[in-house]
This record gives sequence, C-alpha cells and structure tokens, in this order.
Amino acid sequence: MTEAPPDADARRSITPVICYPNETLPKPDLALYRDARVGAEKVSEVLVPPREGRCFEVQAGRFFRISSVEGPQVGDLNLHNLHDLSERFFSGKTRALHGTHVTTGERLWSNLPYLRPMATIIEDTLGWYGIDQYGGSVHDVIGTRCDPYTGNLLAGGHYHHCCHSNLTRALSDHTGLPLHEAETMVHDVLNVFMCTGFTRDTGQYFMKASPVRPGDYLEFFAEIDLLGNLSACPGGDCSSEHSSDTAACHPLLVEIFAPVESALDGWSSPTLNGYDRSHGR
Ligand SMILES: [Zn+2]
Repeated sequence: MTEAPPDADARRSITPVICYPNETLPKPDLALYRDARVGAEKVSEVLVPPREGRCFEVQAGRFFRISSVEGPQVGDLNLHNLHDLSERFFSGKTRALHGTHVTTGERLWSNLPYLRPMATIIEDTLGWYGIDQYGGSVHDVIGTRCDPYTGNLLAGGHYHHCCHSNLTRALSDHTGLPLHEAETMVHDVLNVFMCTGFTRDTGQYFMKASPVRPGDYLEFFAEIDLLGNLSACPGGDCSSEHSSDTAACHPLLVEIFAPVESALDGWSSPTLNGYDRSHGR
C-alpha cells in the first residue's frame, strides 16, 4: 500500500460539503396533501403475500399506504409511470437529493430524462427512529433488491423468491409482458421498513431487525399516475438472511385512498424535467 503523505491528516480533516444542497428543490405542499387526505376514502387494497410481489395502480392525486400486518416485514417497492413503464423510480438520484433513507416530506424521483417527483411521503410512523448508534435508519434507498443472481454468485443455487423475481413475476402478471421483458423493467427499490446502513470500519452495507410492528405504515401522495409493484421480501424483518425461505415472513397491505373532488384545487401533476435535452448539440 502507498505510504501516507506527511499532510495525510490535514487532507482527511477537510470539512465535507453537501453534493446536492436541496433547498432549491420544488417543495411539496404537505399541508394541502394532508388536508386532502382527511376527507379521502379508501377505494381499493392489495394484500401482498409473504415472499411474493403484487402490482397496484394509483391515479395522480390519490394516496397509497403500505402497512405492516401480522408481523415485522420489509417491502421492496418499484414505481413506474402507469402510461410509460420506462419512466421509473430512480433510487440513486433520490439518495443523492435526500440522503440514504427517506421520510415524511421527501419524494421519490424518476429516472433520466424525466427526473420529476413520482410520489411524496406524507406520513411515516417510523419517523421517530432517526439514526441509531450503528448509523442505521429506516426506509433506505441504498440497497438494490435481493436477487437470485447475487445469491448464485455468492452461494450457488437457484432461489426463486428474491424480491427481484417477485417483482418480475408481478409485473409480468399485471402487464402481460413476457417474463424476461418484465425483468428488464425491474429497478432498484425503496426498501420500505428496512433498517440499514453502512459499517463505519469497512463501509459495508448492513441490515438489522426492522423496528416495524403491525400497524406501522408509510403513506404516499401519488404525484403522477403510478403503477406500483411491491415485494414482501423473503428476509422478513431482515434480521438474518434474505435469499432463502428461512426467515419468518408476513404479508404487506397496500391501500389506495381518493380525496374528495376539489380537495386538491391549486395542485397539478408535475411536468417533465425542464432540461432541453440538446446536450450541447
Ligand atoms: Zn428482498
């Protein structure tokens, strides 16, 4: 290894700066959303079975809530534009804009060249958790999704109920796309209820038992028409392993709520990103 230079400590002690100061991000009108939510009525629900995935549709201006039922369970969430599946959740940029974990008031952004808010978190019953002594927090945008390819790479075998496969089957079933075509649309997720971080000594991605309990939920406002896809991770509460049938697993409940007409007066669905896409040519 290269020997440290004489000014190594000085170089290390430089104060970091935030990559993307987000004060200029368009701010969601949370008060408006919450007022609209008060009179909203449930219009549908989907129960995601353990170690399976299910799709659900949410019109722009409606709300969707993901709840823990029966027992602690982590969910892997994909979002698409309902009318154009190529516009999908961009976990990497969401992370760059908001941080490693998301909570109330933060938004899920779509990929390039769209880059607009797809959904806004309006309530998080685990918001109290904060950041624990290990650097862990809840609802991360740092993991990808458990998948059978990494499992095969690390341990061999062919496990079929990783979130990647659950999301693939669910998307194929819902859209009619052939399985392998649906697979290419599956993307990095929001890890709902998952408690994760990076170790300070080695920088490795870690997970620990989720603090979620039945009754806890994460609720969103749909900014555009959405096709959601949620997998109830085979890791259960993700306290031990996540690519096998070993962990205790539970269902997750998705409920859709529609506000009364006029409750969102003054609100409009966000337009596509303003960059002119000329790329200097
Ligand atoms: Zn998973």
